Amino acid sequence: MKEFCLNTIPIHKLQKINNIQDKKLVKMGLKTIKDLLFHFPIRYEDRTQINSIKNLIFGTYVTVVGKVIETKIVFNNRRIMLCRITDGTGILTIKFFNFTPNIIKNTFTPGRQIIAYGEVIRGKYEFELIHPEYTIYKVNSNEMIKKTLTSIYPSTEGISQLLLRNLINQALIMLDHHKIIELIPKKLNKNLISFTEALHTIHNPPLDNLQKSEKKIFLAGNRLVFEELLAHNLKMLSIKDKIKSYDASPIPKNHKLINKLIANLPFSLTNSQKKVLQEIEKDISKNHPMVRLLQGDVGSGKTLVAALSALNVIAQGEQVALMVPTELLVEQHVDNLRQWFTPLGIEIGLLFGKQKHKERKAQIDMISNGKTSIVVGTHSLFQKQMRFNKLALIIIDEQHRFGVHQRSALWSKGEKNNFRPHQLIMTATPIPRTLAMINYADLDISIIDELPPGRNPVLTVIIPDIRRNKIISRVEKACLKGRQVYWVCPIIEESEILEAQAAEVNWALLKKALPTLNIGLIHGRMKLEEKKKTMNNFKNNKFQLLVTTTVIEVGVNVPNASLMIIENSERLGLAQLHQLRGRVGRGSLESYCILLYKPPLSEIAKRRLETIRNIHDGFLIAQLDLEIRGPGELLGTKQTGTIDFKAINILQNKVIISEAQQTAYSIHKLYPEKAIDIIDRWISKKTFDINVF
Ligand code: ADP
Ligand code: MG
Repeated sequence: MKEFCLNTIPIHKLQKINNIQDKKLVKMGLKTIKDLLFHFPIRYEDRTQINSIKNLIFGTYVTVVGKVIETKIVFNNRRIMLCRITDGTGILTIKFFNFTPNIIKNTFTPGRQIIAYGEVIRGKYEFELIHPEYTIYKVNSNEMIKKTLTSIYPSTEGISQLLLRNLINQALIMLDHHKIIELIPKKLNKNLISFTEALHTIHNPPLDNLQKSEKKIFLAGNRLVFEELLAHNLKMLSIKDKIKSYDASPIPKNHKLINKLIANLPFSLTNSQKKVLQEIEKDISKNHPMVRLLQGDVGSGKTLVAALSALNVIAQGEQVALMVPTELLVEQHVDNLRQWFTPLGIEIGLLFGKQKHKERKAQIDMISNGKTSIVVGTHSLFQKQMRFNKLALIIIDEQHRFGVHQRSALWSKGEKNNFRPHQLIMTATPIPRTLAMINYADLDISIIDELPPGRNPVLTVIIPDIRRNKIISRVEKACLKGRQVYWVCPIIEESEILEAQAAEVNWALLKKALPTLNIGLIHGRMKLEEKKKTMNNFKNNKFQLLVTTTVIEVGVNVPNASLMIIENSERLGLAQLHQLRGRVGRGSLESYCILLYKPPLSEIAKRRLETIRNIHDGFLIAQLDLEIRGPGELLGTKQTGTIDFKAINILQNKVIISEAQQTAYSIHKLYPEKAIDIIDRWISKKTFDINVF
């Protein structure tokens, strides 16, 4: 697009930016003028009024003007700069932990008037601001008292809000010199404000009274989100068209093998399983590839449905690849499948990262010469050396752990001329319908909406972690009764190392507290052999207690485990908590889940934990999560997809999701060139690097 030659102008062409800052911005994904324009505020702050120190309220954000009384540097383990200011009504302390000594000479000199903005903290010196935004106060040129709301942007250390605001304002000026093309056809535009106006408003809310200003921000947000939703819907529609243009090998239903397997089961299929199996069988009997998402709550029996679908393919002499996110799950699925398939004379292949070289080579050979008809594996399934013989169906388990391009990398392994394999994509993280339309509009959806009979809901309680000792004795009692227990130590940073450490520390503490028990430890940084051994020991009841990280979150099945403790539960997503809890309550025992939290709980955290405590239906939990957090935040999380959204996290209004979908259908049909432009504007090629689609 000509308009977005802004797309090609790098940020360092702007003023007031140095090399280091430029590098940091690039790291944040801000490379061009367009990136800046699409870097939307996360929130707005009201700095339209000066607050008097006497009337400050702890926990609120305030703007204060005051005269510096004294500034000093104190040592208390670390260097701290303290500056006391007064506005005549009271005294406020400003604290800095990171500072250069110049700051005193340049700004916080006694006698000077300072203006500072930040959150009021209750400190040793009563009112405190820690690392506030600040500047020297000059009457009539007050930079920080704004007549409108101030945008706050996602940022990183070393990139100040002032710098971001300044750069974005320069970008907005450049925007005005370029002709922006409205991409939404006039006929389909129902009263939306212009794209340019929306960009200006979202970054610089207009001068107005607060209420009017908020209304305008809302309209601008709507305009941008609507177009981004359009882009994603249009992308999905184009993917769907593309899929339809491929051929696939039609797979007829093979009653004989299926009935044999079912006859060997100690239970019968649930109605939902039967219904879903039929949907899949109908799809794969066609000569275009199936791409179907199978949603089913934790424990609803998706593996069996996958196995039965696979059987049809195997019976026809073609191949199936089942991809799972962890090596532990490879083991478990292989165990399950062997149980079902060995009596039918079907061998299972397996493939994973840490396999011994010789073993792996043997497995790959068997797959490429067609001797293996079904293989279970991790990401290794789409490694370069892999060649399939006649890959006709790929099954992805726990799809939220895979990126779109990983799914497609496996898919392309079955590419032959215009032929592509069928795809069955399974997830236990149900996402509400409205959201599914954005993330999965390219897929057909099947739902298993019942659990096998005889399952008891897991009794869930919420307990502050100060009562840990009580819990420990409860664990002991349960174990002495022959029960088994999971103790889950998730931590919040996205680091396997830290998570492993947290689990190790807890393991040591629990071993000390419970010397009579055998306690296992499992985390992502252990060798596979070790993990396998520990898991087997737990399965065989040699360990009564298993201390674990979230590696057990997906899929693991130990029916005798009937108690689970989850630490830091207030910081986990609802979907993840539900998944974790799904590891207990798998047998006939009454099962319990204890959610430990660090008090105090915020109002939202409380509501979320209560939701998990009271509700056991994963679909309903997902729906409530949507209501508590709002669609924007939910779509922005990893649980719901791998798409990198730009504006959608400011989405407040659910209605526009379906409006955008309707409009997308019309644009797709009537204005195909516009569709391409809208997709280009919002979706980076990298995000959707799916050449095979
Ligand atoms: P998920 O959907 O979470 O992947 P699994 O496939 O692991 O669930 O199934 C959980 C357990 O339920 C397994 O032990 C499986 O053998 C069992 N199961 C599957 N289908 C049924 C059924 N129809 N009746 C009873 N148990 C079943
Ligand atoms: Mg599963």
